[in-house]
Amino acid sequence: MVEFSVIIPIYNEELNIPNLLTRLRPVIERTGMSYELLFVNDGSRDNSLQLIKALALADPHVRYIDFSRNFGHQVAVTAGIDHCKGDIIAIIDADLQDPPELIEEMIALIKQGYQNVYAKRRSRKDKNVLKKASYKVFYRLLARISNVEVPLDTGDFRVMTRKVAEVLKNMPEQHKFLRGQIAWLGFKQTFVEYDRDVRAAGEPGYTYKKLFRLAFDGITGFSNVPLRIATIMGFVVSGISLLFILYALFGYFFFKTDMPRGWTSLMIAISFIGGVQLICIGIIGEYISRLQTDIRNRPLYIVNETNC
Ligand code: UDP
Ligand code: MG
Repeated sequence: MVEFSVIIPIYNEELNIPNLLTRLRPVIERTGMSYELLFVNDGSRDNSLQLIKALALADPHVRYIDFSRNFGHQVAVTAGIDHCKGDIIAIIDADLQDPPELIEEMIALIKQGYQNVYAKRRSRKDKNVLKKASYKVFYRLLARISNVEVPLDTGDFRVMTRKVAEVLKNMPEQHKFLRGQIAWLGFKQTFVEYDRDVRAAGEPGYTYKKLFRLAFDGITGFSNVPLRIATIMGFVVSGISLLFILYALFGYFFFKTDMPRGWTSLMIAISFIGGVQLICIGIIGEYISRLQTDIRNRPLYIVNETNC
């Protein structure tokens, strides 16, 4: 029987895994619970998998799932949730940006009856100012336009109960935004604050492309406001165009204005309306493409090998 599971998504983390374990193990052992360390290798290109398999041979607590390719962090964590056995479950990044010591505090809160305890970033030591600012803007934007209260400045570093995990397992959406899904569930939840460190070693696996995809999944999964903006934009622009049409007609029939002079305004109007239309079609397209992947219902990930 396993009381405590730690889910660790891995994408090219060979330099961090040993240090992570050195810090994580004492924390877990102090809790006195029986545990498993569940590594999800998300198509790493370095020696992370070999390292994890060697660890698993030496230590029965270590379990792993190896994906057939890179499926992304959210999917890796989802696979962890699908396969973990513990009554209490932690999710932590492998790069030591999430301090393992915090888990102790979070477990204490779970034992007080909370179902979900997330870690909220008080500060972020990221060197990349642009990334830092984008995160800030994204979380505030999402909070404004979504119908769920997704906690501000919170990633997936958290401890939750089996109850939460079981509900998550039954949520079918393909575009995962776990922190949003968990917030949507409700349940008694709280947070602990921490200062987010810089990545200990290696390169971030989250490229800008992946971050944008995550941001889009977060927004489209939890808000219909972009669609509404598209509609409103459509009305506003149509209104303006109507005035413009009236102006043009009146000019032609009553004032006999010399029409060819209108070339500039015509071009402005056409390109403006064209631009707005393309934006609106694009927004609708984003939602439809998500609908389509949900309907297609392919497996979320493919397991190459595992010892679970
Ligand atoms: N990760 C993953 N798949 C990916 C990208 C990242 O499993 O495609 C893992 C990575 O190994 C790390 C965690 O997700 O344990 C967070 O990734 P990263 O540090 O790149 O994200 P950031 O801290 O920049 O948000
Ligand atoms: Mg990181």
